[in-house]
Order: sequence, then C-alpha cells, then structure tokens
Amino acid sequence: MKLFAAGHTDPGRVRSSNEDAYFIGDSIFAVADGMGGHVAGEVASATALGPLEEIDAKVYPDGATAIHALEEAIQQANVEVVTKAQDRPEYEGMGTTLTALMFEGQRIHFAHVGDSRAYLLREGQFNQLTRDHTFVQQLVEEGRISEEEAAVHPRRSVITRAIGVTEQIDVDVMTLDLEQGDQLLLCSDGLTGVVADEEIAGILSDLDQPARTVERLVQAANHAGGPDNITAVLLRWDETPTGPDRSGTTADMSGPAILVHTRQGENAEAWVQGMRRFGSFTSRRRGTGPHHHRRRLLVILVSIVIVGSVLVGGGRWLLGRSWYVGIEGDRVAIFQGVDASIGPIELHWVVEQSDLALDQVAPFFLDRLESTIAAPSLTDARRIIETMPRVAGSAADPAQTEEPSPAGDATTSP
Ligand code: MN
Repeated sequence: MKLFAAGHTDPGRVRSSNEDAYFIGDSIFAVADGMGGHVAGEVASATALGPLEEIDAKVYPDGATAIHALEEAIQQANVEVVTKAQDRPEYEGMGTTLTALMFEGQRIHFAHVGDSRAYLLREGQFNQLTRDHTFVQQLVEEGRISEEEAAVHPRRSVITRAIGVTEQIDVDVMTLDLEQGDQLLLCSDGLTGVVADEEIAGILSDLDQPARTVERLVQAANHAGGPDNITAVLLRWDETPTGPDRSGTTADMSGPAILVHTRQGENAEAWVQGMRRFGSFTSRRRGTGPHHHRRRLLVILVSIVIVGSVLVGGGRWLLGRSWYVGIEGDRVAIFQGVDASIGPIELHWVVEQSDLALDQVAPFFLDRLESTIAAPSLTDARRIIETMPRVAGSAADPAQTEEPSPAGDATTSP
C-alpha cells in the first residue's frame, strides 16, 4: 500500500493575492489559511508551515512520540508567527489556520487549529474529521442554528482559534488508522465555503489522478465564484494513485501524483479503530506571556462580530447580546460583546464596573445575574443595575429609579 498525494492552491476569482499555503512532504502534509493586511496573511501561513517542514520524514519510536512531535511543531509554529507579528507593525494581528497531518506507520495523526478542514472519504462515506474553530460552529453546537444555516451564515468565516494570534494555543489532535482506498482531503474554507460536501465527495469518487482531482476541486470553487483563496491537499492510501478500480498501469504511475510512502506487507485487514481523540493532547495549552494578546484577538473578534452584525442587519441575536449586565469579581458590571467564550477566547469585555457589590444584590436575583441580563444599549444596562433588587437596607431603591440615568453615570445611587 502506498500513500499518494497532490496539492493545489489558487487565489480564487476575487482576491489578488493568495494567503493560503500548503506543504506536501514525505510524512507531513498541511494546509494553512493566513489572514492579515497586505502581505501579512501570506507571511503567517508560510511561517506556520516552517516547523512542520522541519519534522518531515522523521521517524518516531511510537505513536505517542510522533503525536507529541507533531503537536510541538504546531506550538512552535504559533511561537514563530506570534514573534513575527510582534516584531513588525505591519504584521500585527496576522494569523493563520493550520491543519496538518503526519503519516506514521499505517496511521495518520492530525493536528488542527482554525477552520481549514480534514475530510475522510472511506467506502463512499465522506466525513469531516476536524471540528471548525468558528463562531458559527459554536452556535451549531449550542443548538442555536442548524448546519445548513451555518453554511450560509454571514459570520461563518469568523474563526475563534488561530495560529499566531495568542501566545497560548489549543490544538486538536487525533489519530486515524488507515484502510485501503482511504482518501484524505485537507482544504481551506475557500473550497468548503462554496462547494458542498456532496460535490467534493463526488469529485474524489471519480478517482482521477490525485493532481487532477485537486485541480478539479479548485475549479469547482472557482465556478462557484471563487470568493476566497482555495487550497486542497489530497492523500490516497492505495496500491495505485487512482485506486483498484482502474488498476494502475505504468502510465498511471507516471502521472503527476506524488508517491509519498511505500509500506511493505501491509495487512489489508487493517481495520479502522476509528478516529481517536487523545484527550490528554486535546486542549493542551501552552504559553507564558500575559493575556494582552488574547485581549487583542478578543477585541478584533468582537469588532468583526458586531460590525458584521450591523452591516448585514441580520444579527439580531448578536446585537441583542452586545450589551449585558453580569458579574465581574465581586461586583456587578456592564459588559460588551457576546456572553460566550469560544475555545480560549472570551467574546466580551467589561465596559463599566459598578459600585454595586454582589452582597448587596437580593439573593433571589443572583442566579439571573449569573446567567447575565441582555441590554439593548448601555443606558439600558445602567438602568438594569439601578433597578436591580437589593437586600434590605442597600442603597438603591428600585422603585425610585425607573427613569434613565444621566449619561456617564453608571453607578447611580439616588
Ligand atoms: Mn480562507
């Protein structure tokens, strides 16, 4: 059994530059979708691939060591992009997705940050292996919107984890045992944003030469408008690059497919033990710096979310949640943003800390406060605090504070 691979990237039909990058090595394969102004996105994606290239073709004594090396490379990619972003002002705020895999024995180890994806086509079943680190995916998992709604959601490209933006990074890691005929696809959202899974699966099922297949995937995205950079990396685990149905001739083998690996005496019965999530690796976080980077990302994300909501006009839920009253420390405070933390990122910040201490709030009201109270405006948020039920003897009397408070006074006591 052999692993055949091919990759293709294209700027698409709208963008002048290509911030995507991919790497195909002997054992390492990766897709990165960079973001940032001017050339920053390209720098971010290219930089992130560096540490992965360094571990290409290395051999490890066991799976755990291999996974560790892969994860270390991702962490190193993060450090390098963060460092570059800090070094030069024009790189500030740049980041990249990174979806990488390592071929080890008859297994594939995945590491993933962001919204590029890995898919598996096996025996006609096409499944997404990675979980998108996106705002809309969070909404899907919370049951707020359906998968179908997520696919066309105006904020679907807002990612909640990226390489190079925070000094701490959570990396999803998983392992898949290969089976003959498996096709693995790594791709950026420029493909999956406009081409349905069914169509992608159909193209893979045709078993063209891998290089031809990835070209066709890119073409499909361009036919659908090509609004974003498009990248696809395809791996086939089989005896020939085009599968057993078109038994490989010499001519087939001379095609542009890259023969990556040969394993002798493979057991054809190698059965999937399934995609396994390594709990001890998943959600591992590393970093030493203060949280100012996270704060910066947070502000960027919230800005994107809120501005996007306003622009699109459909973001009623977000707008409705863009101010709220909650608890900060031992006091009541007004927050802006969304009362959610997605991965390591909290999508909100304190706007005003009030003088109202929690022990002044009526106990029956604390639960409601804990789950936060949405406010349509800052003024409304201030009024909610003013009129909050309090324990007997506390300063404010809700009955007297029905009128909006003067602007700028967040902590009114009558
Ligand atoms: Mn993209």
